[in-house]
Amino acid sequence: MDSKQRVGWRKTLGATEANIQELISKMTLEEKIALTIGKDFWSTNDVERLGIAPIALNDGPHGVRKPGASSEIGIGSSFAATCFPTANTLACSWDSALVEEVGEALGEECLALDVQVLLGPGVNIKRTPLGGRCFEYYSEDPVLSGELGCAFVNGVQSKGIGTSLKHYACNNQEYERMSISVEIDQRTLREIYLAAFERVVRKARPWTVMCAYNKVNGVFASEHTQLLHDILKKEWGFEGVLVSDWGAVNEKEKALEAGLDLQMPGYPSDHTAKMARLVRDGQLSESVIDEAATRMLRLMLLGKENRRTGFVFDPDTHHALARKAAAESIVLLKNTDNLLPLQGDQLRSVALIGRFAIQPRYQGAGSSQVVPTRLDSSYDELQRWLGDKVHTTYADGYNDEGSLDEALLHAAVEQAKAADVALIFAGLPGAYESEGYDRKHLFMPESHNRLITEICEIQPNTIVVLHNGGAVAMPWIDGPKAILEAGLGGQAVGGAIVDTLSGKVNPSGKLAETFPVRIQDTPAYLNYPGEANKVYYGERLFVGYRYYDKKEIKPLFPFGYGLSYTTFEYTRLHINNTEMNAGETLDVTVSVQNKGATAGKEVIQLYVQSLTSQFIRPNKELKAFAKVALEPGESKDVRLTLEERDFQIYDDERQAWRMEGGEFNILIGSSSETIALRERVIVHEDQRSMVPLFNRISPIKQFLQYPKTRELLANTFAETPRAVLFQGDDEMFTSMPIAKMVVLGVLTDEKVDTLIEQANQISSQ
Ligand code: BGC
Repeated sequence: MDSKQRVGWRKTLGATEANIQELISKMTLEEKIALTIGKDFWSTNDVERLGIAPIALNDGPHGVRKPGASSEIGIGSSFAATCFPTANTLACSWDSALVEEVGEALGEECLALDVQVLLGPGVNIKRTPLGGRCFEYYSEDPVLSGELGCAFVNGVQSKGIGTSLKHYACNNQEYERMSISVEIDQRTLREIYLAAFERVVRKARPWTVMCAYNKVNGVFASEHTQLLHDILKKEWGFEGVLVSDWGAVNEKEKALEAGLDLQMPGYPSDHTAKMARLVRDGQLSESVIDEAATRMLRLMLLGKENRRTGFVFDPDTHHALARKAAAESIVLLKNTDNLLPLQGDQLRSVALIGRFAIQPRYQGAGSSQVVPTRLDSSYDELQRWLGDKVHTTYADGYNDEGSLDEALLHAAVEQAKAADVALIFAGLPGAYESEGYDRKHLFMPESHNRLITEICEIQPNTIVVLHNGGAVAMPWIDGPKAILEAGLGGQAVGGAIVDTLSGKVNPSGKLAETFPVRIQDTPAYLNYPGEANKVYYGERLFVGYRYYDKKEIKPLFPFGYGLSYTTFEYTRLHINNTEMNAGETLDVTVSVQNKGATAGKEVIQLYVQSLTSQFIRPNKELKAFAKVALEPGESKDVRLTLEERDFQIYDDERQAWRMEGGEFNILIGSSSETIALRERVIVHEDQRSMVPLFNRISPIKQFLQYPKTRELLANTFAETPRAVLFQGDDEMFTSMPIAKMVVLGVLTDEKVDTLIEQANQISSQ
């Protein structure tokens, strides 16, 4: 099979699909019910007498975590597997092809470890940098999250391994994650929090989707009919298996009715007997069980068909890919006087400081924790690069927990003073960010901050390398000349850092989340972490850069930001049409040139800005992006395509997507803050969706807005002499709800109702 070919339900199962119904008809009720719950932690039940074998579902996402036995949770004791950069870090590559390649490698490791479904990717939105699991999610932006999610799914599934798109939906904090209710309006839900899920489900067709633990508007995600049945399965056409997060089911029958197919994990209980009783008592329809069992059979047969006994992967090749992925994801945040790349042949001495130099923080904690095949430290890799030619010293600077140790601090400062360059490794200790709880604040430990501050006071050539799974405050920002954001770069991060410091790799990463100056500046600050078991998403659509833009708050580093060892110039923005109608697309082309003397890569970001909206809208929103490699002096044309959805809003009133007509700017930039080029287009809306729905509280001005309803209103008023008292264009009158015409004695109830009915008829024509 071509490695890029996608393995999907229909393609693989064309012939088998017919057999599934036959299998279902041969199964007892108990056998079917057993398929809807796991056998143990990681495998499904089987139906031996019909030759239906169990399949294994394992974590995910940035490496395979398969414990020795299926009955073990096995965090920290799984089979060795390549640990790739975590999602927050890999997202900074903005490189879909790279993410797909990582996905392919993960798929191969699943084949080797006999895993049929890899539990990832996570595409939840980073609502607050304090979210304990931010390292497992790509971005604060749904388009970036969705595109990278698609690439991941395509990569893994090209190997005949399923994925599990998680955590559906609104797992944006770990605090009270198993009980909290996310209180959210439909527009925000659709445009921000579901958008990445929708993109991946529609475009990449993951074999499974995993529901979240939390509630959404008062209902557990595992029992949420609107989310599971109405939106995911019916509207988006999801054909795979809806699996619960591990332990997310509360009331199984409610979950099944809402659309859940598989409860995980399995546990010793009378589950099957209880469900069978409910069916026999008529309290649960057998068709619900049949539907879940059918989807499970599809998944299990697909898993079985793609098994490759004896498959082996090459750990060295995967390690090299992990190094490339980490290097492509490093973000150069600051580089005063072009201190970087370091000129190895001109250096005499380097002081290497910080425990992370010898023990890198390379992944987060919790279910995604991989046991790596090996681990490269920056210390070793730097020695390998510099050899004996350069005198290197090392000082811990802080202890493993990150707590302040004056003696370690002092020794580090002394070493830094004596060297040409100080290279500090700092960031967030492991205990600061994990699945299951949130971060307490935005700061790095005091020991790390003091180390940087004090070294910068005595050493002008200081470089800081950061290891962290999310944004951190940098009160010392003016001190170091250079800052590298290395994130949680996986097992080969040490090599990737040295590749970047040495200039072997020209940094091309861009932040996938805004770095704020202080927590008080962040979008969710007033509505986080919630109270009385509810968290209100009061900032609505204004998450990440959408918020900083609108409030004109200057962040520390904006979304999409990242420097390079070269510079790029953007010219010749061209759009193939100045106008767009519903159902059409727009092709946007821009020319990018490398103006420096070093080969490099640039991420071209396209934002859409609405200029005439009647809805509350962010100043601009990312809608497309591309990464290009350019030799010195080389220029390339980059083409990006915009579709209807890129201009749409979710109209809460109609409960439908609406392509709002009006003027829009197409913005091309190298970050959300640096827009190089802009061009205006006019979007024509489908006339029908322009006319709003009318009801008794619709203001009179709404009737006056459209010629046909204006005429209708005039005719209705013409029938009553008192109407002259209330006609005119002044806003006091036109903003009155139409029903007020009854209490003011102008119209009767019947007349108002007829008017509304006729206006709605017109608007639906
Ligand atoms: C996590 C999931 C994970 C599952 C299995 C849960 O606690 O939320 O992301 O896939 O455990 O380990």
